[in-house]
Amino acid sequence: MLIRKIGLEEEPPNSSEITYVQTRKITDMPESYEIAELTWQELDAAIEETSTLLLPIGSTEQHGHHLPLGVDTYMPEAICRRVAKRSSCLLAPSIPYGVSPHHTFKPGTVTVESETFRRYVRDVCRSAGEWGIENVLLVNGHYLVQDPELEIVVRDLRIEHDMRAFHVPLVTLFEDVAREIRRTELSFHASEFETSMMLALFPDLVSMDRAKATSIDHEPLPLTDYDALGDNQVGWALSAEEMAELTSTGNLGDPTAATAETGEKLVETVVSKMCSLVDALEDPER
Ligand SMILES: [Zn+2]
Repeated sequence: MLIRKIGLEEEPPNSSEITYVQTRKITDMPESYEIAELTWQELDAAIEETSTLLLPIGSTEQHGHHLPLGVDTYMPEAICRRVAKRSSCLLAPSIPYGVSPHHTFKPGTVTVESETFRRYVRDVCRSAGEWGIENVLLVNGHYLVQDPELEIVVRDLRIEHDMRAFHVPLVTLFEDVAREIRRTELSFHASEFETSMMLALFPDLVSMDRAKATSIDHEPLPLTDYDALGDNQVGWALSAEEMAELTSTGNLGDPTAATAETGEKLVETVVSKMCSLVDALEDPER
């Protein structure tokens, strides 16, 4: 039985340290906000109340010795679930495969051609537009790498399909807070940030006893950086061969510095910012 009332406020942990947005309560919605759990009639009724859809988009790729292959999908999915509990929106089933050519040096990685990925994501959103969804948030857990594709999808949806679409990369939303609380200088892949968020969201899926620090022994080229929050002023990319040379474990950075507390702060920062966008999109006064 699916009984999860939309709008029920959940008290998040560590609330003293984080500023939360005030979200409004919805009383006359169907019992679930997850569209895969609704009948078409329930979805039809739900779209009378909200025209915003969250679409988590991840990847299936190697994340070192200590994290599972699904990290990039698990993170945005759990974050979207929190947003949908607090703000008026619906949650679509996640897209678990993305653009990951640089991780194919380890098994378990799936990579989808850029054009295939773009068209697939666009078609999913376009279908939602047919039901009456007006706003769609593409919540991207595979940070940095598939940003260009999702930016193009957003542009297509806005210009060709008259939908208000947004690309929401987790890393951009938590960047300010991450800069303040980070303990390591290099967190590029499967390291402090991702491991912390997984410790906060899915601790049973993290094997901290297998986490190993890796470092890079050379300076990055000017205008580029290996860090997720680094000074990347030019577009660039790593190949699988380059990644294999940089890391034998698969992670880049020190995941042993990760804590659930850091993860919770990053997660709540993203949730709070996303709620403020959803609330504004759903505000009839705007
Ligand atoms: Zn990842």
